[in-house]
Amino acid sequence: MIDTPHIALPPHDWPAFPPGLVWLVGAGPGEPGLLTLEALHALQQADVIVHDALVNTRILDWRRPGTRLEYAGKRGGKPSAKQRDISLRLIELSRQGQRVLRLKGGDPFVFGRGGEEAQTLVRAGVPFRVTPGITAGIGGLAHAGIPVTHRDVNHTVTFLTGHDQTGLTPTEINWEALAKGSPVIVMYMAIKHLPRIADELMAAGRNAAESVAIVSNATLPQMRVLETTLGAAAVDAERHGMEAPAIVCLGSVVEMRKSIDWLGQLRGEPPRDLDPLQRGGAAEAS
Ligand code: SAH
Repeated sequence: MIDTPHIALPPHDWPAFPPGLVWLVGAGPGEPGLLTLEALHALQQADVIVHDALVNTRILDWRRPGTRLEYAGKRGGKPSAKQRDISLRLIELSRQGQRVLRLKGGDPFVFGRGGEEAQTLVRAGVPFRVTPGITAGIGGLAHAGIPVTHRDVNHTVTFLTGHDQTGLTPTEINWEALAKGSPVIVMYMAIKHLPRIADELMAAGRNAAESVAIVSNATLPQMRVLETTLGAAAVDAERHGMEAPAIVCLGSVVEMRKSIDWLGQLRGEPPRDLDPLQRGGAAEAS
């Protein structure tokens, strides 16, 4: 059993966690320090934690002694047959009068089926609360030195999932509109279907030479970042053995990494380019 001492939270009017409440909580992208204080508060009150594969077990170690763990992992875009079971389990635990923490990787409402679970709880009349988390497509890229928006590059950003419920590339994506309308595209669960996704984007007009970064296990010690291009991304991902969980980012913001790869710089690597976009740098303008 864990003998982690209770971690004191700063004084605050923390939300109550009454028996029977289901609390849907985002655990962030991996690094335990990126958990929110509210998530930690919930973690220390829960009777049972129903968690996903992507939740770092070091975060689970912060639960109070005696809290039960239930694994509800699903990986690799497998059919969502088990999703119903998970939702039913949450209802069952709530009806037993337990304080149920549903802990999900990243943010529970970003490609995490948190919305579906919440809907099921509403229909069952189960009280619930939601705590957002840092999503991998923003926080994970930040650890790779890639800002999802930069004034020199983009005023919009699009989040895309490479899998739908059937495990296929989402057929309802309007690739033309996406290619034209979004300078930066951040892709979740996109490794498996990267050849198809890249082809669709290039067929819709995106340049094969455009920058792509693939960030696997973002924020964790085993994080890997592969810099490539849209045309070469699928082959390079395969050649370098890039594995899930990974975020794929397309767009010029990727080039900013040459300047602001802060983790590399803290390890003593000099910046490769102080002005990767050769625009004089918006930072120096007003
Ligand atoms: N709710 C989560 C996303 C769940 S979908 C969130 O907000 O982050 C699972 C996908 O998220 C993975 O296939 C991968 O694309 C991405 N992901 C989650 N954690 C990640 C990590 N540490 N590094 C890279 N990608 C990650």
